[in-house]
Amino acid sequence: MGQSDRLCKNCCYWQRTVAEDIQEGTSQETLGICRLIPPAVLESGTRWPMTKESDWCGEFDHLGPDAANEF
Ligand code: SF4
Repeated sequence: MGQSDRLCKNCCYWQRTVAEDIQEGTSQETLGICRLIPPAVLESGTRWPMTKESDWCGEFDHLGPDAANEF
């Protein structure tokens, strides 16, 4: 897997979000929720980190945390 494939859209922690749930931003790019860490707790409720499908970070994981136990 090349660096260009290590995007949020290919990460096991990413969950595509339907347009109706998007409350901010004007990008036409698909957004999703990163579920690597727990959501922030705000007075208005909980809020998961939102990323674009082309975003990436150093915690990218294609297989998931349980993959090592499968061998
Ligand atoms: S921000 Fe990092 S951990 Fe979260 S979905 Fe994107 S690549 Fe995965």
